[in-house]
Amino acid sequence: MESSVLVINCGSSSIKYALVPAAADQPRLAGAAERVGSSDAYLKGSDSHGERFEKALPGADHTRALEAILAHLEGRRPAAIGHRIVHGGEHFTKAALIDDAVKAAIETTAALAPLHNPANLEGVAATGKLFPDLPQVAVFDTAFHQSLPPRAFRYALPEALYRDHAIRRYGFHGTSHAYVSERADALSGIQGGWLTAHLGNGCSTCAVWEGHSLDTSMGLTPLEGVVMGTRSGDVDPGLHAHLSRQLGWSLERIDDVLNRGSGLLGLSGLTNDMRELENAAGEGHEGARLAIDVFCYRIAKSLAALSCALPRLDGIVFTGGIGENSPLVREKVIANLPHFGLGLDRIANAETVRGREGRIDGGHPAAPRLWVIPTDEEGRIAAETRQLLEEITA
Ligand code: AMP
Repeated sequence: MESSVLVINCGSSSIKYALVPAAADQPRLAGAAERVGSSDAYLKGSDSHGERFEKALPGADHTRALEAILAHLEGRRPAAIGHRIVHGGEHFTKAALIDDAVKAAIETTAALAPLHNPANLEGVAATGKLFPDLPQVAVFDTAFHQSLPPRAFRYALPEALYRDHAIRRYGFHGTSHAYVSERADALSGIQGGWLTAHLGNGCSTCAVWEGHSLDTSMGLTPLEGVVMGTRSGDVDPGLHAHLSRQLGWSLERIDDVLNRGSGLLGLSGLTNDMRELENAAGEGHEGARLAIDVFCYRIAKSLAALSCALPRLDGIVFTGGIGENSPLVREKVIANLPHFGLGLDRIANAETVRGREGRIDGGHPAAPRLWVIPTDEEGRIAAETRQLLEEITA
């Protein structure tokens, strides 16, 4: 019987998909429809032999883009659909079978993620039309962080803002932090205390103790925390009023600059792409050097702060496009934590790239471990989908 899960990550103009078989050694079919809803929409992906394809889908909406995705599943019919839903608010502490009540709760939370949750729901509606008889499961980016204690999730704001408007820290990248910390436990043979650093285009850190998130760098929105590709991360909360009063900037402009014009791109004045920044810094580009310096220092600072949440530190885990592939960033982050007693094996650090999993510390028994663990958000969403359906049918 086919027991693949079709994982869907539906944004306002893109749909990422992966057909994840139950057996880890079976090939996945994966790809993405981009620029959905526009005249230059297209679908790209890879087949079961790893061959890549690209196909124009002019004017395709979400439903037509999904139909095109189905045509590339090589006749394989999934047993269930697992949806990545960005914001579950305080409603969801784990994955949920999608029914009318769950859809309504996701809609209610849309005020907290106006760019993401409505687009996620469009994906749910489109797959519901195409697969009316298949179970659909919502897996939330925020759910893993619902174990944060109040001292970590509350802002020092008037209580009514929390009570009446749900303003608090939620955290994101939950499936990634959950996956890599669980993997670090398995690889280390302990239920550990880990600091996990998900460093991709979006970046966040997390403190995980015995499988539970105790604190994380992102907050009410995915803008809080460390420096990211185009997002500023933490700034003085007085900045918005200053830009508005002194420069006459609108809220929309401030939001746009902090989300799309800041971070590595803003600091370097060059690009949000770490590979390009490393090359430019090597050629003496001052902005690129500064961007990498600020990026690495702020990650170290965030990890040091989050270590306060852990009763014991067993190690640090690097993941995400940058965390998995940049020995330079890992080395600079570790160099900024001299008092943590970390040892870096330079050869292992240089060699652990391009999807390799491994330890990059010197192996000293008293020193915290340093792991590089490629994340697998699709695999985790498929696993949570499968687990929920098993619980329901048990
Ligand atoms: P993600 O969002 O997880 O796909 O990560 C994207 C980021 O990973 C971009 O900043 C890329 O430049 C970065 N990245 C990918 N490969 C490398 C590499 N070999 N060296 C440095 N950064 C990389």
